[in-house]
Amino acid sequence: MLDKKEKEKILELIKETIRKIAGKNSEAFVSFLYEKKNINEFKIAEKLKISVNQVRNFFYKLLEYNIISFTRKKDRRKGWYTYYWTLETDKTLEVLKKMKEQEIKALKQLAKSREIKTYYVCPNKCMEVTTETALLHEFFCPECGTLMMVSDEEKKIKEIETKIKILEKDIETINCFLEKLHQKKEEKKKRRKK
Ligand SMILES: [Zn+2]
Repeated sequence: MLDKKEKEKILELIKETIRKIAGKNSEAFVSFLYEKKNINEFKIAEKLKISVNQVRNFFYKLLEYNIISFTRKKDRRKGWYTYYWTLETDKTLEVLKKMKEQEIKALKQLAKSREIKTYYVCPNKCMEVTTETALLHEFFCPECGTLMMVSDEEKKIKEIETKIKILEKDIETINCFLEKLHQKKEEKKKRRKK
């Protein structure tokens, strides 16, 4: 079972995922969705003071990632459909895990390229360039004209390694939560069968 602290951490991870998918402003939606089921889209629109179309556009983005499900009901009198949305916590965490795995892959490639190539940086932090580009400008910064220096690769690679370690730890946490969530689902299924 998940305790309060774990639930809060999961909420944080969900917010991170939604932010990555739909931008910073989308976090406001999460509090309506987390640990709830079949949320009426008109209610969200009303509470956030936006149109139902705006709410739907947000949900369509999440649908692309398959982290939300819906049911719909037709209003017999008015003839239109109302959608009821459910955010799938486990699927959201799985998407975040995949995103972080991709980030690690990209960082590892970056570290590799930094091991092979030499880079030059401007002391005024205007830019960082490859040796070829630095040569073209006779090692003067194209932006401010200051002589450029060889960048500290060891430091850069250490920074990348630190980032990778943080991501790996996040993935470990996510895996632990996923296991608990799947257990919970299994237990529910068993109870239904009885
Ligand atoms: Zn410069």
